[in-house]
Amino acid sequence: MQASRVAIIGGGLGGMSAAISLRAAGYEVDLFEKNAHLGGKLNVLAQDGFTFDLGPSIFTLPQIFQDLFQRAGKKMEDYFQLDSVTPHWRNFFEDGLTLDLFEEPDLMRQELAKLPGNTEQHWQELQNFLAYARQQYKVIDSGYLQEGLDGLWEFIRHYGLSRLGREIDYRPTMAGSIEKRFTDPALRSIFEYFIKYVGSSALAAPGYMNMMPIIQFDYGLWYVRGGMYHLAEGLEKLMREMGINIHLSADVTAINRQGKKVTGITLAGGQQRSYDTVVSNMEVVPTYQKLLGESEKFLGKFDKFEPACSGLVIHLGTDCIYPKLAHHNFIYSQNQHKHFKTVFEKGQLPDDPTLYVVAPTRTDPSKAPEGCDNIKILPHIPPLSDDGSITHEDYLALRERVLDKMERICCPDLRKHIVTEDFLTPVDIERMYRSHKGSIYGVVSDWKLNRGFKAPKTSSKYENLYFCGGSINPGGGMPMVILSGQKVADRIVAKHSQA
Ligand SMILES: Cc1cc2nc3c(=O)[nH]c(=O)nc-3n(C[C@H](O)[C@H](O)[C@H](O)COP(=O)(O)OP(=O)(O)OC[C@H]3O[C@@H](n4cnc5c(N)ncnc54)[C@H](O)[C@@H]3O)c2cc1C
Repeated sequence: MQASRVAIIGGGLGGMSAAISLRAAGYEVDLFEKNAHLGGKLNVLAQDGFTFDLGPSIFTLPQIFQDLFQRAGKKMEDYFQLDSVTPHWRNFFEDGLTLDLFEEPDLMRQELAKLPGNTEQHWQELQNFLAYARQQYKVIDSGYLQEGLDGLWEFIRHYGLSRLGREIDYRPTMAGSIEKRFTDPALRSIFEYFIKYVGSSALAAPGYMNMMPIIQFDYGLWYVRGGMYHLAEGLEKLMREMGINIHLSADVTAINRQGKKVTGITLAGGQQRSYDTVVSNMEVVPTYQKLLGESEKFLGKFDKFEPACSGLVIHLGTDCIYPKLAHHNFIYSQNQHKHFKTVFEKGQLPDDPTLYVVAPTRTDPSKAPEGCDNIKILPHIPPLSDDGSITHEDYLALRERVLDKMERICCPDLRKHIVTEDFLTPVDIERMYRSHKGSIYGVVSDWKLNRGFKAPKTSSKYENLYFCGGSINPGGGMPMVILSGQKVADRIVAKHSQA
C-alpha cells in the first residue's frame, strides 16, 4: 500500500489512539492540537503545591490500552504504570450508611452486612446481578466493542435479531433492570450510578449498560502511578518515537473540501495543508458546524446525538486531611431519580445531586503537601443550553449546595479549610476542549433518542473524512475513546486495502 497522508484534528486520547494505530499501519500522520499540550480532557493543573487531575480519575480496562501499545510493537508497562485502587468506591448516604465496593468477594460480602435485611439475600442478588452484567459485557464486547460496530444496522447484522432479543438487554432501562434484581434501595442507587462512566441517565440508557460494573469487578479499577496525566505523556512519548508529527497550539479552523471529498485543513493564521484523509477528534457536531459550515438541515441529522452531561468540576486543596474519604467516593442524592430527571429531562441544575468525590492522596501522597487533602467534586449537570438560561450565578449557587452536602456528610468545616481552588463550569469545558455544549463524555446514551449508539466513525457526506472520540461509537470514557481511535484506523486501512 502506498503511504497515504492523514491529518488528525485534536490530540485527545481518541486522536492519539487513531494517530498511533494509523502510523503503526504505515501512514504518514500529522496531528494538530489547539492547546499547548496533548491529552484533551485528560489534563492536569499544578497550583500552590497541589496537583489536580482536571479530567478523568478512574482508569479501567487496561487491556484496551495494552492493545494500542501492541499495535506499535511496544509494551504499555514501559510507558506508564498502574496501581490498583481499593476499595473501588466508597458510597455515602444521607441516613449515615457508608458502603464500600470491593473486587474481593469476602470483603464485599462483609460490607453487605451493613445493609438492613438478610445479608445472604443481598449477596445472592449481587451475584445474580454480576452474572447478568458479565453476560451483557461479554456479548457487547464481542461485537459492539471489538468489531467496532457503528449503528443499529451493523448491530443487527452482526448479532442477528434473535440473538439481539435473547442475549442483549436492549430494553427496558438500566434502572428498570436494576430494580428487578435488587431489593435494597442503596444497592439500586449505587448500581444506577455506574452510568456516571458515560454521563447519561439510568432512567434512559438501555439495559445493557448494566455491563459497566463488570468493567470494574472483573478487570479492576486503576490509578496511573504519579497521576493520570502520565497516561497522556506515555502516549506522547510513543507518538514521537513512531515519527508522528505533532503540532501543538495548532488550531484547525476549517476542513477544506471539493465535492464529496475533503482535501485538507486550514489552520488559524490561514495556512492550508493537503491530506488524503482527515480524522476529526473534535466532536462530530462542532466539526460539521464550525469546520465545514454545514447547513442546519444537514446538522439536523445529528439531533439524536445529543451531548452527554457536563459537570461542575471543583478542585479543592485543603489544609487538613478528611479521613472519611476513600480514593473514590459517591455521595448519593436523597432522590436519585429526581436528580436524573432534573439534569437529563428538564435540563436544570439539580437541588440535590449525586456527587462524585475523588481524594487521590489515598493512593498517591504526592498530589498534596503533607497534612493536606486534594479533593475533586463532580456533580453531573446539563450541557449548555441554546438559550443560556443557566447563569454563572446559578453555578455558584450550586457550588454552595455541593459544599453544604460535603460538610454535612464527610468533610466537616470544609469551607474553612480550603487553601486553593479551581472551579470549571460547562462554559470553561467547552472553551478548553471545544466539546459540544461543554459535554464531558461525548454523546448521551439514550434508548429513545439514539438506541444507545453514538455517531458513526465514517462521514456520510465526505468519503475520506472520519471521526473518533467520545461523540463516536462506542462513546465516552478513556478506554472507549482509545478503542474508537483503533477502530477508525481499522476502517481506513480496510477501505484502502479494498481500493
Ligand atoms: C471532569 C471529568 C471527569 C472524567 N472522569 C473520567 C473517568 O474517571 N474515567 C474515564 O474513563 N473518563 C472520564 N472522563 C471522560 C474522558 O475524559 C473523556 O471521555 C475522554 O478523555 C475524551 O477524549 P476525546 O479524545 O474524545 O476528546 P478530548 O479529550 O475532548 O480531546 C479533543 C481534543 O481536540 C482538541 N480540538 C478540538 N477542536 C480542535 C480544533 N479545531 N483544532 C485543534 N484541536 C482541536 C481539543 O483541544 C482536545 O484536546 C472525564 C472527563 C471529565 C472532563
